[in-house]
Amino acid sequence: MDALDIVEEGPYRYRIEPRGGMRVPGVVFASRELLQDAGKSLDQVANVATLPGIVGASYAMPDIHWGYGFPIGGVAATAVDHGGVVSPGGVGFDISCGVRLLAADQTQQELAPALDEVMDGLGQVIPRGAGPGAVWRLSGRGELERVLDGGSRYAVEQGHGEPGDLERCEDGGAVPDADVEQVSGRAMERGLGQVGSLGSGNHFLEVQRVAEVYDEAVAAAFGLSPGQVCVMIHCGSRGLGHQVCSDHVRVMNRVMAQYGIDVPDRQLACAPVESPEGRAYLGAMAAAANYGRANRQLLAEAARRIFRRSTGARLSLVYDVSHNLAKIETHQVDGEPQRLCVHRKGATLALPPGDPSLPGDLRDVGQPVLIPGTMGTESYVLTGVVGGGAFHSTCHGAGRVMSRHAAARTVGGRELRSRLEAEGVAVRSSSWRGLAEETPEAYKDVSSVVEVSEGAGLCRGVARLTPLGVVKG
Ligand code: 5GP
Ligand code: MN
Ligand code: MN
Repeated sequence: MDALDIVEEGPYRYRIEPRGGMRVPGVVFASRELLQDAGKSLDQVANVATLPGIVGASYAMPDIHWGYGFPIGGVAATAVDHGGVVSPGGVGFDISCGVRLLAADQTQQELAPALDEVMDGLGQVIPRGAGPGAVWRLSGRGELERVLDGGSRYAVEQGHGEPGDLERCEDGGAVPDADVEQVSGRAMERGLGQVGSLGSGNHFLEVQRVAEVYDEAVAAAFGLSPGQVCVMIHCGSRGLGHQVCSDHVRVMNRVMAQYGIDVPDRQLACAPVESPEGRAYLGAMAAAANYGRANRQLLAEAARRIFRRSTGARLSLVYDVSHNLAKIETHQVDGEPQRLCVHRKGATLALPPGDPSLPGDLRDVGQPVLIPGTMGTESYVLTGVVGGGAFHSTCHGAGRVMSRHAAARTVGGRELRSRLEAEGVAVRSSSWRGLAEETPEAYKDVSSVVEVSEGAGLCRGVARLTPLGVVKG
């Protein structure tokens, strides 16, 4: 591919001029440095701009990096009523991967004497690594179907949670219109034994403290104050979500030509939202998303039990939000409201203050946006802003700069654990190799990513969190 034509459009905003089959421009939110880090993934931003029905622009967040077809850190919306497509690659293999944050009624000083015991407890009860293992043993397929339909809501109904939890979950804990029929037998099989498990590498459960608050009023509404202990959980839909993505990519690759769709990369396989294949994918995706949400609900319950037992502390849910999902949303396009299929892959929904879908106690302040950094640095809590760009989306993390392989060459797992422990971060990991692949140097600087996201008008800072201990997948 020829070099892209990129122009600086405004503060932290670059435009990739349309050419070839691009129907809209690319818009990259970045600083000069982060734009350099984006490298080849900008070609993916340009490729996404060719999708039928795409509106506005093919957007890239400051934490963009290379992904399957679509970049990770990409946002693309298509017009549902004008032949717009849905593409599984625009959601990714870990459907509804996301972050949940819980706040303890406890300060770091209060936790300190019990931290080791808490970390040992978490290390014992949190299933992790690539294989099976789950907090919740389902009675069988029937119950798995109820998880796929009801997500966190079903888990809470079954006693795995507190009623107030659902208020603080995106979509009230369950995506509507899950279609269990569209989830293959193989996907069901993979999902049966993994409800309540972290998965591998990049997924984690971290004990953190609120190191700094930037907006006291918003932080208070979220339930956060300086010095407080928090628990952040990052995981997704495990093997079930992965299988759903694989299954539907295969189908779409087969039928694309029948719809007259031609894409520059087979990994962009897609079908019109309003086609049998498009609807089948969205139904299966919703089911996998609910699996991911139940998964985070179960892990949060496991963490609550450990904290209660070891310290008596209670954990309240701040929020649970996905960063890999496609949603049908209504947005203004050229002054007219339009139904859009908004793909966010490695990008977080950031609803502004006043959004009617927010629960009452968050209506005036906006949606909590949860941004993990690395196990050795910091993480952030942000909120949405009125007029936020990219269909109310922002970054989802620091974003990788180094491949897993390259990262593991820079440091050994044991050495990394010693270093982290010397810096005051307790580590419970499942594999030395896996830990080394996640060395903080493998990621961009999350503070720059957040600064650029704010500077570009996508979100606003609320609090900075630093790690006390990490259970690594
Ligand atoms: P992804 O969803 O793309 O796999 O990861 C999201 C983000 O999580 C990464 O970009 C990275 O910034 C962050 N991350 C990965 N591992 C850890 C960890 O152990 N602790 C924290 N706080 N963040 C992490
Ligand atoms: Mn994931
Ligand atoms: Mn993720």
